[in-house]
Amino acid sequence: MTHPKIQRHKTTPVRIGHLCLGGTAPVVVQSMTNTDTADVAGTLAQVAQLARAGSELVRVTVNNEAAAAAVPHICEALDRQGINIPLVGDFHFNGHRLLEQHPACAKALAKYRINPGNVGSGQTRDASFAAMIETAARHGKAVRIGVNWGSLDRSLLARMMDENARAEAPLEPDALMHRIMVASALESAARAESFGLGRDRIVLSCKVSKVQDLIAVYRLLAAESDYALHLGLTEAGMGSKGIVASTAALAVLLQEGIGDTIRVSLTPEPGEPRTKEVIVAQEILQALGLRAFMPVVIACPGCGRTTSTLFQELAKQVQDHLRERMLVWSGKYPGVENLDVAVMGCIVNGPGESKHADIGISLPGSGENPAAPVFIDGEKAATLKGDRIAEEFMAILDGYVERRFGGAFFDKVESTYKVP
Ligand code: SF4
Repeated sequence: MTHPKIQRHKTTPVRIGHLCLGGTAPVVVQSMTNTDTADVAGTLAQVAQLARAGSELVRVTVNNEAAAAAVPHICEALDRQGINIPLVGDFHFNGHRLLEQHPACAKALAKYRINPGNVGSGQTRDASFAAMIETAARHGKAVRIGVNWGSLDRSLLARMMDENARAEAPLEPDALMHRIMVASALESAARAESFGLGRDRIVLSCKVSKVQDLIAVYRLLAAESDYALHLGLTEAGMGSKGIVASTAALAVLLQEGIGDTIRVSLTPEPGEPRTKEVIVAQEILQALGLRAFMPVVIACPGCGRTTSTLFQELAKQVQDHLRERMLVWSGKYPGVENLDVAVMGCIVNGPGESKHADIGISLPGSGENPAAPVFIDGEKAATLKGDRIAEEFMAILDGYVERRFGGAFFDKVESTYKVP
C-alpha cells in the first residue's frame, strides 16, 4: 500500500532474511534493543517484545566477544519460539575481528551495520572495512553503511574541508557537512561493491540529529544514488520532543518518496517500554497512508461539553482493546488494519463522525446520564446505556470484526448487534 500522492524514490531492492526492502517493497519498521547482547535471556525477551509490537527488523549491539557468542543462541531461541525476525548486528571498531572469530554470529545475523567512521583509520581502516564486507559477501548478508555526523571518517572530512577552502565558491558549513556525509556514504558503498558486495546487498544511512539537516542530507543522497535508504533522526530525544522531531523529519522525506526502512530513535522515559519507538514508527507510516498496521481510532479532543472523564476513559479503553486484539486479528482477519473506529464526545460532531467510520460510538456530552448511539456502516445499530457502555461497545466491535473480516454472513439488522 502506498498513498497515491506519494511517488516512491526508485531504489535497488535488498533481501534481508525473509524481508525485502527497497524497490517497491513497503517501508520497513525497525528498532534496536538496549540490553547487553551477551545477556541472551534479556535480549531474547526484548527482541520478542519488539517483534510482537510490530518491529520487522531488530538491531542488536555486537561490541565484544560475549555479545558475538550470544547472537547465534538468541537467533536459535527466536526460531524455537516461532519468531521469524531478522537480526542486524551493530558493529564498531572491532567488528572485523568479531565476525572473523565468531563465524556462527556472522552466519546468524541477517545484516551487518558498519559505520565507516568507526572501523579504524588509514590502512587499518581499509583492511577492517574490506574484511567485514568480504565476510558479508561470503555469507550472502546485507550491510547497512551507516554514516553518522558524530563519527565521520576524519580523513575524508579533512580532505573535503581543504578542497572547500580552496574552492572559488566555498560551501557554507552546513551545506559542506551535508556533502561530506553523502560523499562518505557513497564512497564507502563504492568500496563495498569493489570488494564483491552486490548493490542489492547495500543499504545506506546518514544520520544527524537536526531535522533540517536530515532532510537536506537525504534529498542529496536520494538524488545521487539508487541504494536502498534507512531513515532515522539520530538522538531524537525523550518524550514528545523526540516523537515530534522524528515525525517532522521522516514525514517530509517519506512524503517525497525517500526512505525504504525507518527507525525512530527515542530515549525511553524511565520505566517506559522500548516498544514505543515501534508504535511511533508505525503511526508515522499509517498517518501518511504508506502502510496500515492498526485500526484507527477517530476521537475528538473533548471540550466543555464532556465534563466527566467518561469520554477519555472510553477512548483509551477502545484504543488499548484494539492494540491487544490485533495480536490475534492481524493473522486471522486480513484487512482489519484498515478499520476506522470513531469514539466521539458529544452530539455536536459525534453522530456525523461515527456514521463516516466503519463503527463508532457517540456519547451524549455533559449531563452524562449516557445514552450512546452506536453506528455501524453508517447506520444506527444500537443505543447503549448504563455503566457498562465500554464493555458493551467493545463486544459489539469484536462481533463486527469477526463478521466483516471473518467471512461469516453479516446481517445489518439491528438485532444482529445484541449485546451479550
Ligand atoms: S464532538 Fe462534542 S465533545 Fe467532542 S470536541 Fe466536538 S463538541 Fe466537544
